[in-house]
Amino acid sequence: MTVINSNLGYPRLGEHREWKHLLEHFWKGDFDDATFHDRAKALRLANLEKQRALGVDLIPVADNSDYDHVLDTITAFGVIPARYGHFDHRLSLTDYYALARGSKTAVAAEMTKWFNINYHYIVPEFDNADFQLLDNRWLRYYQEAKQELGIDGKPVLLGPVSFLKLGKRHGHYLNDAAVAELLPKLLPYYVQVFQELAAAGASWIQLDEPTLVQVTDPADIAPYRAALTNLRAAAPTLNIELQTYFDSLDCYDQVVDLPVQAIGLDLVHDHGENLDHLTTSGFPSDKILAAGIIDGHNVWASDLHQKAALVQRLLTFVDHDHLWLQPANSLLHVPITTRNEPKADPVLLGGLAFADEKLTELRLLTAAANHGIASVQADFDRNAANLAALNASSHRNNQAVRDAEAQLPRQHFERHAPFASRIQQQHARLNLPLLPTTTIGSFPQSRAVRAKRAAWRKGNLSDADYQAFLHAETKRWINLQTELGLDVLVHGEFERTDMVEYFGQKLTGFYATQNGWVQSYGSRAVRPPVIFGDVAYTKPITVAESVYAQSLTTKPVKGMLTAPLTIINWSFVRDDISKAQVQNQIALALRQEVLNLEKAGIKIIQVDEPALREGLPLKRRHWQAYLDEAVYSFKITTSGVRDDTQIHTHMCYSNFSDIIATIKALDADVISIETSRSHGEIISAFEEHAYDKEIGLGVYDIHSPRVPSVAEITANIQRALRVIDVHQFWINPDCGLKTRQEPETLAALTNMVAARNAVLDQL
Ligand code: GLN
Ligand code: ZN
Repeated sequence: MTVINSNLGYPRLGEHREWKHLLEHFWKGDFDDATFHDRAKALRLANLEKQRALGVDLIPVADNSDYDHVLDTITAFGVIPARYGHFDHRLSLTDYYALARGSKTAVAAEMTKWFNINYHYIVPEFDNADFQLLDNRWLRYYQEAKQELGIDGKPVLLGPVSFLKLGKRHGHYLNDAAVAELLPKLLPYYVQVFQELAAAGASWIQLDEPTLVQVTDPADIAPYRAALTNLRAAAPTLNIELQTYFDSLDCYDQVVDLPVQAIGLDLVHDHGENLDHLTTSGFPSDKILAAGIIDGHNVWASDLHQKAALVQRLLTFVDHDHLWLQPANSLLHVPITTRNEPKADPVLLGGLAFADEKLTELRLLTAAANHGIASVQADFDRNAANLAALNASSHRNNQAVRDAEAQLPRQHFERHAPFASRIQQQHARLNLPLLPTTTIGSFPQSRAVRAKRAAWRKGNLSDADYQAFLHAETKRWINLQTELGLDVLVHGEFERTDMVEYFGQKLTGFYATQNGWVQSYGSRAVRPPVIFGDVAYTKPITVAESVYAQSLTTKPVKGMLTAPLTIINWSFVRDDISKAQVQNQIALALRQEVLNLEKAGIKIIQVDEPALREGLPLKRRHWQAYLDEAVYSFKITTSGVRDDTQIHTHMCYSNFSDIIATIKALDADVISIETSRSHGEIISAFEEHAYDKEIGLGVYDIHSPRVPSVAEITANIQRALRVIDVHQFWINPDCGLKTRQEPETLAALTNMVAARNAVLDQL
């Protein structure tokens, strides 16, 4: 009787981002298809070998990708939008990348966030869904692992219902009726994949149906049941692991009753609910419980004693032969190994576990389950000592932070005067024209800016020379903004690579990894900061830049900060205390920065919260708590200022009608929202929900290099003014301009100011 361990997916990037470089070289034309395929194969096999060496019993295959696993599903099942051409065979690499990145003749497919984490998938378009099986990639990779390495792998396949639900038809996500209509057309090709795998001798397949965690009505389990019944009957020798992740199952009883051999449950991000289900309803004795016990989207070492106790608890529901230990979700979303962080403080390092270390934890826990903890005592002891050292370290025991937190419940984080009175004081002080113009903060991060930063980082440019360069760039852009005739200026954010990383570098408690890359989309990798200790403010962060910029002009220059929730959502956050607690620590630190900006004469302070909406929990019942915490931390940050200091905020999304109450509750004097791609929708939202503060609905789309015409921007402004009072409205692009080129930026802003003037003339 043995417990085994199983992985759900391994990071694609390579320890030194070999995969990213492979893709980018191919795109540049440095490699031909054959070279690409050879190198991709070598990386694939190396990842499999590594997992075997780390002691993974059931190794996933076909979880690799040349870009994104949803795109792989799209191209395998022939869901190719007509604009890319017609295909009756496996796509060439060039055709495959045309979908992902666009081609000369066809725009790229849409990309969106994978559930509530920072990975972006290609959205399937089921407009003219004639399915076919163009490429049984699951068979190819299953056979490759078997032939080349003798690994009898577990192919990973996105389930048919989730595949459909993640896609759109005629611009809208599929509703239940559309899923019911398309599923029978799609299923025969899934059947073919299953049958070919069964014939090749595969014993297990991991069928991911993450959308199961979003089903609240047991009746809505029907399509999953229909699909599984079909697949099961068609390939009876292929065992199915039905995999769920990112939250608990609301329809637990119905899901564990589905006709499969193993059920994968997330026991980390389930708010304890899956364990409750196991306790109340038990688990079918003929199925395997594939227990996701290791956090697959955070970077912390597990407390092995605690996890071993959880395993013992699970063994009260199933016997040893029916328990698999797994990460809670694919390890795609964590960096590869802490071995490549030689500069990290050893105390922190001991508390970190990236993908490889997580697989080691699983091996140890599996050994403990089978042979007792004594068999791995030294490892368990080391783990306990490491965690104790980190928790006892000064990083996590900052008394000043503790004291400030203790004060929170007694404090009231509201502006002194209500908005109506504040705004009059602000108008008197700022003296802005009607329909004031501004930008969201960043100006183009040109090649020169990036080159200087790189040189400075490598030590080839002195601090003083780098500062002088940044000042010169700010000065140049203050002059440009003045010539453009903008009313509220910005310093341009040239000192920031990234709006979260920058603050992480200046606050305590953050660690910037050397190689902690994770895939964000396609070849794009990011290194989220690791928040491992108490966050404290030690010195001003942005004050010098803002004060310098303000010294160059009599027009107001906005101070520019990133709000606490966005910092949290784009970081790996310590899990020994609650996220809300970390968020409030950040808020208390930023509050001091806000007050320092004000003291230094900055009259407008913008606190960006672009990630508020994308971080919404998967289940609606958790939304309110999340939003309340966001509002609270925003108010901690911003409420300390004088009434005549104007607080701005910026958010990057258009779909905001469902969180309008939150946006109002932030009590920001001015908000700017990204709207230009869906102006109609957002304007109708305003018809339904009156907004009483000042607002800038982005009047042009910055995500494209195209320069919008004066007429187009004028029309956008006029449309907005039909529902928003002219005294409340601001004129701005819909997001920061750091990814744009200078000429197109200047041309677009020139047109924006002209459009504003045209509208003013007609009033
Ligand atoms: N102030 C930031 C900028 O202009 C805001 C970026 C964002 O919203 N993502 O770049
Ligand atoms: Zn934005």
